[in-house]
Formats: sequence, C-alpha cells, structure tokens
Amino acid sequence: MPELRRDPIHGRWVIISTERSRRPSDFTPEERRPIGGFCPLCEGNEDRTPPEVLAFRDNGTPPNSPGWMLRVVPNKFPALRIEGELNREGEGIYDKMNGIGAHEVVIETPRHYETLATLPLKAVENVLWAYRERIIDLRRDERLRYVLVFKNHGVAAGASLEHSHSQIIALPIIPTTVREEIEGSKNYFSYKDRCVFCDIIRQELQQRHRVITENSSFVSIAPFASRFPFETWILPKIHHPSFEHTESSLFEQAAQILSDTLQRLNQVLDDPPYNYIIHTSSMEQDQDYYHWHVEIMPKLTKVAGFEWGTGFYINPTLPEEAAEYMREVK
Ligand SMILES: [Zn+2]
Ligand SMILES: [Zn+2]
Repeated sequence: MPELRRDPIHGRWVIISTERSRRPSDFTPEERRPIGGFCPLCEGNEDRTPPEVLAFRDNGTPPNSPGWMLRVVPNKFPALRIEGELNREGEGIYDKMNGIGAHEVVIETPRHYETLATLPLKAVENVLWAYRERIIDLRRDERLRYVLVFKNHGVAAGASLEHSHSQIIALPIIPTTVREEIEGSKNYFSYKDRCVFCDIIRQELQQRHRVITENSSFVSIAPFASRFPFETWILPKIHHPSFEHTESSLFEQAAQILSDTLQRLNQVLDDPPYNYIIHTSSMEQDQDYYHWHVEIMPKLTKVAGFEWGTGFYINPTLPEEAAEYMREVK
C-alpha cells in the first residue's frame, strides 16, 4: 500500500510508493559521460576565470596564480549581476525588478578528478569556511535579501563542469521555497513553542529508524517525508538559525559528517549525481525559530507531470530502508 506522508515543516505531502520496491542497484545512473575538454577550473588556468574574490593559498603565492587550495571566482556567465541599482517597478498589474545579485563559483580543489567525497577533511572544511566568508560578505550588500549556496554534482544534476565546484547566488528577493520553509518553522514554533527541527532531531535520535550517521554535533537522517529516494538531511544538533553564524568550533564536525554522508551515498549508489543546498535563515530579521541544515538530493528519478501538477512527489524508496542501506556502509 502506498503511504502518504506529510512533512511537518512545509506541510508538503509525499507519496511513498514502494510497490516495485527499489533497491539501490535498481537506480541506473544516467549516462555518466565525462564532459572532457579544456577545464578553466584546474590549477594553472587561473587566467581563464574572472579574478578571484577569495582564495586559500600557500603563503606568498600571488592572487590568480597557481598555489591555491581553494578559489572563489565570479561566474563567467552569471545568472545575476552585481553592478547597478535595484529598480523595482510595476507595469500595470505586473511587478518586475532588474537582475541584481551575485553569482560565484567555489572551486573546491585545484585537482580535476577529486570530489568532495574523496577530498581530505581539511579541504572539505575549507569549502565550508569559504561558504561562510562569502555569505557574510554578500550579506553586507543591502540590495540583496538571500544568499543561496548549492552544489550540482554530475551531468544529470546540472553540473556543466566536471571539476568539483559549488555555487553561491545572492538574490534581491527571498525565494518562495525558502520563505515557505521559514514560515512553516514559524507556524510550528508559534503553535508548540519549540523548533520543529529540534523536535525532529530529538525524535529521530530516539527512534533511530531514519538516522544514517552522527557525530557529537551533527546528525544525518533520511527525512520522514523524503521526496526523493535517498534524500538526506544533515542537521546540527545544537539549535542555530544560520549556517554562517554557527560557532567556528563546529566546522570540523560539519566537514566530517558531510564527507562521511557523501561517501556513504557514493558507496550505496555508485557515485550518483546529486544536488545539495544549504538551508540557512533569510536576511530579514533574526529568525530564531529556524534551524539551519543541509539537504542532499541524489538525482535518481525524474520529476514529471504529476509532481509539477500537484507539488507532491512520489518516492519509490522507503526512507527507513534508504537509511538502513546508508547506515550499513563500512
Ligand atoms: Zn579541472
Ligand atoms: Zn532548532
């Protein structure tokens, strides 16, 4: 029997339909052709990207030259541009504004064939530090209302370059999905006087059906109403609304659980394409009822007509079973 599950934050319904129960090996990865060709993100090709806005380098190496561990550069083909005034206009009943924002690329390693799952922990931690620095810097721009950090890994997940990288987009509006999640957390808080994510963590750690892995500061779970097979959330055990203001002492643990979780995904699903998104509070006010976290979505199924028409998803894998596969990885 398919089961309908409701996500307690969004109120989003999901259909868990395991009729043809899907094991990890049933998901054939989409074509995994190497993208190949010249790579502008490799060490030595620094002149092929816009000048770096942040880099972690060996002492004494000049900007935009080899000798770096990580670089952040503006996107060469940005979705939004940083220059100009933000004009909000009405045109009859329609509203518009110009595309002000920032679009940056975090080059996670100088070496072409490394991935976040294979990088040493210190390098993964550097990626998180870079996110933090860039979010804090972009939040100083008063025209911008939200900074989204995400990663597309693999062609099927939308990566146009093979070299391991993630992206930062700062927007002049708060996106609907972010607003919905923040509103959902607020509603739960005003009803129960507790954070919904803290409640989720407490229950998951008690029941342990959907826990994948944990360390002293973080836990990684298959969410109860997973939209996608092997959807995974990483949550800090201590309540904090924003990623960028999390205590710096937690970054080592954050890198550890991110790396551990990605390695498990790799093993269970044979290096699947995936997206992850850092969910952090918006820029408006202190959103103390919100709890930052990372959502990882392997791309194993296609979003089609039913999902677009209803906003709810059919998931062929039971989250409890996904968690078990992920937990059992040695
Ligand atoms: Zn490369
Ligand atoms: Zn919380």
